[in-house]
Amino acid sequence: MKERYDLLVLGAGSGGIATARRAASYGARVAIIESGRLGGTCVNVGCVPKKVMWNAAALAHGLEMAADYGFDITRHGYDWSLMKKKRDAYIARLNGIYQRNLDLDNIKIFQGHGRLVDTGRIEVICENEKQLIEGKHILIATGGRPVVPDIPGAEYGITSDGFFELEDLPKRVVVIGAGYIAVELAGVLNMLGSRVTMMLRKEIFLRNFDASLRECLMEEMLNNGVNILGSTQVSCVEKSANGLIEIVSSNNQKISDNNCLIWAIGRRPNTENIGLDTVGLEVTKEGFIETDEYQNTSIQGIYAVGDITGRAALTPVAIAAGRHLAERLFNNQPKAKLDYNNIPSVIFSHPPIGTVGMTEGEAREYYGEVKVHQSRYTNIVHALSNHKKRSSIKMITVGAREKVVGIHVIGEGADEMMQGFAVAIKMGACKSDLDGTVAIHPTASEELVLLH
Ligand code: FAD
Ligand code: NDP
Repeated sequence: MKERYDLLVLGAGSGGIATARRAASYGARVAIIESGRLGGTCVNVGCVPKKVMWNAAALAHGLEMAADYGFDITRHGYDWSLMKKKRDAYIARLNGIYQRNLDLDNIKIFQGHGRLVDTGRIEVICENEKQLIEGKHILIATGGRPVVPDIPGAEYGITSDGFFELEDLPKRVVVIGAGYIAVELAGVLNMLGSRVTMMLRKEIFLRNFDASLRECLMEEMLNNGVNILGSTQVSCVEKSANGLIEIVSSNNQKISDNNCLIWAIGRRPNTENIGLDTVGLEVTKEGFIETDEYQNTSIQGIYAVGDITGRAALTPVAIAAGRHLAERLFNNQPKAKLDYNNIPSVIFSHPPIGTVGMTEGEAREYYGEVKVHQSRYTNIVHALSNHKKRSSIKMITVGAREKVVGIHVIGEGADEMMQGFAVAIKMGACKSDLDGTVAIHPTASEELVLLH
């Protein structure tokens, strides 16, 4: 039987749900197709459970500092399984909330794998049952999945998905990769007590970030006891009879006796087996769906948002792009579109990183001449500690009026301070606007209005 909707959304993750709900709020008849759990990557195996783990790690760090503040606290182990039970229950509650919100918005949910059969219809397959649904507009928001390399023994490793299934804190872990997920998971595991080795194929991690951030993070992670092996490419993985994992590098270095190996080497878009070839929608060589600035694909009536488009793979980006699309299609806002410039982002490392705008390198390449204001400071939280951790701030400005084009902060509080400064940058703030703002004392944020 055929059902007809104004909008069919393939994928109930951050982008899909946001678009569906905004469209429904304008009276559109919407259906959403999901093969997994509602909420997608962010809710189930991404931002949300990751932030819970980051909170746990931050608490562990707090416990370490507590003695400096006079508390008589000794850390005795960590009940990972209790935390996991509670974390899973929290996620299940969120899944339920998503279900209720979609129901309240009269959005029909089709549970199953969706595939375009032509430019106006999606076939949903669930337990061998097929259903055909028809839509005036179709949104593809199928997100991505972690990459596992094609090398012998790769299957002995897990990815970030598997990290959230771990029933115990692994004693010795190797994290392979050099991006957001690698530094975040390595940081969490290290703080909670694992012995962590990071393997980078290049000399450094976070290559696309400002040098000040990765240099400071590298220093802090090494100080925290993370073993970082640069310029080390994995050639194969082996598992011994006692279940321990050995990683062999291309220069024949062996890292043995690991309980866990985590691949954090990037994500691949879910563009296979969703009927793109059937409708003639081409993908880039990395598998992404190209869209114009309005999220239009090359086929009229078919749109894409989120990780699938290969632009700024972040939850708020998927949500914002989707909401703008819904405004354009269903609320008579023909110019509605997301501005992809100056997207702020936080890396939940230890300490966290907050960043917005251009790196120094990017700004020099784009503008030629730039001014850099930089400072390193110690957060007052470490005032009573013998192990002072350094924070770092860099602000990049251009022109005679010193327009701020980039802010990069690493240190306690960087995660929470960046949102407000991102507003200022978006509004075109100059250094003098920040200088003219009275500081809030004593905070880490004040460092940004006191930079000289
Ligand atoms: P997704 O959320 O991945 O949703 C896609 C949905 O489509 C999935 O539910 C999938 O099951 C479904 N689907 C796929 N194919 C089909 C099909 N054929 N039929 C039916 N359903 C299908 N971002 C942040 O902003 N902050 C963070 O702190 C952060 N932390 C992260 C931590 C980790 C470990 C990871 C992996 C990601 C993190 N991200 C973070 C990124 C964020 O999760 C993604 O950018 C975001 O989820 C993308 O949303 P999306 O809608 O494009 O795709
Ligand atoms: P990233 O793309 O951020 O990083 C993966 C890195 O791993 C690459 O940049 C590369 O670095 C390295 N790499 C790639 N292939 C290999 C290989 N074969 N062996 C060793 N290293 C390799 O991917 P992530 O999976 O970390 O995260 C995916 C995206 O999810 C992020 O880009 C981000 O958009 C989002 N995310 C956001 C978070 C947040 O907002 N806090 C948290 C987590 C994810 P190099 O080339 O330098 O070796």
